[in-house]
Amino acid sequence: MVMKLSTLFGRTLREAPADAGYPALRLALRAGLVRQMLAGSYALLPLGLRATRRIEAVIREEMDAIGAQEIRTPILQSADLWRASGRYEAYGPLMLRLADSAGRELVVAPTHEEAFTDLARREISSYRQLPVLAYQIGVKARDELRARAGLVRLREFTMMDAYSFDGDEQGLDATFERVREAYQRILRRLDVEFLCVEASSGQMGGSASVEFIAPSPYGEDVLVRCAGCGYAANSEVAVAARPSVARQPDMPLREVATPDCTTIADLARFLGIPESATAKAVFFWAPERGLIFAVIRGDLEVSAAKLAAAAGVEQLRPATVEEITAAGAVPGYASPVGLRNVYVVADPGVVEAGPLVAGANKLGYHLMGVTYGRDWEAALIADLAEVKAGDACARCGQPLALMRGIEIGHIFKLGTRYTEPIGATYLDQQGRERTLLMGCYGIGIERLLSVAIEQHHDDAGIVWPASVAPAAVHIVALGRSAEVREAADRLYDELQQQGIPALYDDRDESPGVKFNDADLIGLPLRLLIGERLLREGMVELKQRAGGERWSLPRADVVQAVRAALDPLKDR
Ligand SMILES: [Zn+2]
Repeated sequence: MVMKLSTLFGRTLREAPADAGYPALRLALRAGLVRQMLAGSYALLPLGLRATRRIEAVIREEMDAIGAQEIRTPILQSADLWRASGRYEAYGPLMLRLADSAGRELVVAPTHEEAFTDLARREISSYRQLPVLAYQIGVKARDELRARAGLVRLREFTMMDAYSFDGDEQGLDATFERVREAYQRILRRLDVEFLCVEASSGQMGGSASVEFIAPSPYGEDVLVRCAGCGYAANSEVAVAARPSVARQPDMPLREVATPDCTTIADLARFLGIPESATAKAVFFWAPERGLIFAVIRGDLEVSAAKLAAAAGVEQLRPATVEEITAAGAVPGYASPVGLRNVYVVADPGVVEAGPLVAGANKLGYHLMGVTYGRDWEAALIADLAEVKAGDACARCGQPLALMRGIEIGHIFKLGTRYTEPIGATYLDQQGRERTLLMGCYGIGIERLLSVAIEQHHDDAGIVWPASVAPAAVHIVALGRSAEVREAADRLYDELQQQGIPALYDDRDESPGVKFNDADLIGLPLRLLIGERLLREGMVELKQRAGGERWSLPRADVVQAVRAALDPLKDR
């Protein structure tokens, strides 16, 4: 491909559009890598596409190295396949559903567990074929109403998604480890700073999951980390040591007047008891479940993400006063005591505690001596407590810290979640039919592009890691003399012939404009040819990272470029 700035499809911009709030997006727009087409939908221009191709090349090498096989599956899929897995309805509004002209119901795949499982059902019949690890690099679409964070949460995006099929748990564990290690190699080679954290299985279902997170103040994920023992988990699943509370002896239920005590703090102060001796009621609403009544000890907070995961719903919102009242509860004085037909989820803290003070579902009154099992029961008991900064680590007791990050990869042990309903089975050594065990593994390509820019830039522009840079060298020709132009043309041709990808600034622009664009586009090396240098038979070489520059004889350029790139090569 010819890479000359005079004709490059995608110009640099002095300013990013005012609504582009994220630093990585601003740079990607200004450097001419991407252009926004819709909210959450971007075109990749030549430099942006070249960078993503390099990311994909590293991913392919590492996946191929662990024996993964590349395939391609369609994004237009039959609704029936998604009905078979039970996700046609459950996936909710994120999935785009449509019909073809013959009236067949289709979906635009937001992910490909169903498609790969269907292929496994058709292709795998015997234990002799196992394990199978297959992947694709392709486009997916989700009807993201929350499309945001620039290139991070997109409606249409590129992913490498891999799927494994094993005959037993040990096989799945081994494959999962193999992919986890490959992901770590991929991210190290791309020069991405990341953390591996325990994560929720969310929509995918399954038993275990690990996220690869790039620390970022712009990230949507909140992580819990322990500096003492290295514990790291997404806050959706993170646990802290709970302050233990001595169990009080059982006592009978008694109503007490508690005027103007609609908060736990007011109630504890009024009765002269610790907040941990109260039960707190928190109401949420989920479309697929209706009212969800969460009960937790008064000194703890409910994590909506943990509650959603426990209740098996995609999204929650706080319930309205009308919704709470319709269930027979009184906001500010609510408890599960005496309520019927309400879905109650309780944190283990309130279940294990002895008698607590809880609402009487009567304005101005609470109940004392409220005891789980005797006075109320929950439909589900699950850890709901939100971890806060400074909470003690459950493993080592050190204070936990919170930080934000961007999810760039996520791997899951799915077990038989998809293979069972879709009927993907194999015959074992004894000829018995068994269900395949599945894993799935995803890496977001545009997210990696965004994270690479966010982690590698300065005030002047992008500072590409050599493994991601759209080209290795940026050639700048200074001045308008025919000699300089010819010399620069020859240099560009020579680098191309030597297999060193170069971008050539052949425009009639001032030195200042050319230098600024070279810094903004941020290729690892800049080669400068000007009249004075040319008379001396020299070329100037500058490293984008660190800004070091030196002159060298024209004849030595290819060798010097190779030598300068070598230590920058991926590890
Ligand atoms: Zn710890």
